[in-house]
Amino acid sequence: ATTTVGVIGLGSMGLGMAQTLVTKKFRTVGFDLSADRRKLAEDAGVEPLLTIGEVITVSDFLVFSLPTAQDVSGVVESHLDLFQAKSGQRVIIIDTSTSEPDVSRDLANRLASLGHGFLDAPVSGGPAGAASGKLTMMIGGSEEDLALARPVIEAMAAKALHVGPSGAGNVAKLVNNLLAAAHMITTSEGLKLALAAGIDPEAALRVVNAASGKSMISDVHFPTWVMSDRFDSGFSMGLMRKDVRLAKKLADSTGAQLPLSEQVASLWAGSADLADSDDFTRMGAFKQKN
Ligand code: NAD
Repeated sequence: ATTTVGVIGLGSMGLGMAQTLVTKKFRTVGFDLSADRRKLAEDAGVEPLLTIGEVITVSDFLVFSLPTAQDVSGVVESHLDLFQAKSGQRVIIIDTSTSEPDVSRDLANRLASLGHGFLDAPVSGGPAGAASGKLTMMIGGSEEDLALARPVIEAMAAKALHVGPSGAGNVAKLVNNLLAAAHMITTSEGLKLALAAGIDPEAALRVVNAASGKSMISDVHFPTWVMSDRFDSGFSMGLMRKDVRLAKKLADSTGAQLPLSEQVASLWAGSADLADSDDFTRMGAFKQKN
């Protein structure tokens, strides 16, 4: 029988992943609260359904791409009766949202007791990576669930790294995004210094990217979205603020002392000139800053 994948959340990331699944010949159904997003998905060959319940009922695998951990647990908890009804037919949830380790562990335990699987599987690579099936995915969960979900995961991700048990994928993603958030600020400050000291920031950036100061932020995000003043990477300030806040919360809960990250967190939270709906690459703008 054909494998049916249900994508819940068809935003910047979810729509691209759903499109990729269609291209790779999975029967793909989907749901988003927004009718506009459902229409875009339909245009891309996804079967849009009108409720999350219908998606759960027909799917073998569920891919979540929701803003927050609260959205993820809300969707699962309000449909526990449907998961219970399907308990003879194992469903694996691949949660690609940047979520919280404790929430993932709790959901994995509750779904396991109903005979279902849950992998925390957050991603990196942006909307372009989602639409081309070239995401990097960091996975927490059991070997068994991962083996079952592998064909779906490999359709979406060029690199799928199993980090450890449930919650480990979320921890790795928060570590990654904390670094990306820091790189956005440090690269911006470096180019601000270049400008203040009288050299062309474009030339300074070329040097950094051929030398030891390079990061993916300096190598991809600066040329594509910051130097060009385009600021349309498709990842919002609001979502990056969430990630930095979650990384700080994780550090606090473990007792890890991270003095530079404290500063990074307060700069992202406090950048009052930028709205949550702005693109996160605006945080790299350096020309007008004093
Ligand atoms: P987005 O805001 O573009 O999309 C989220 C979608 O979820 C929206 O279309 C919204 O209508 C929908 N939604 C919200 N609650 C819902 C619900 N209960 N049921 C159904 N749909 C619901 O966000 P995004 O940029 O696609 O990010 C999704 C997740 O992926 C976030 O956790 C984000 O942190 C993470 N992420 C984003 C990027 C990126 O570059 N955009 C990269 C890696 C990870």
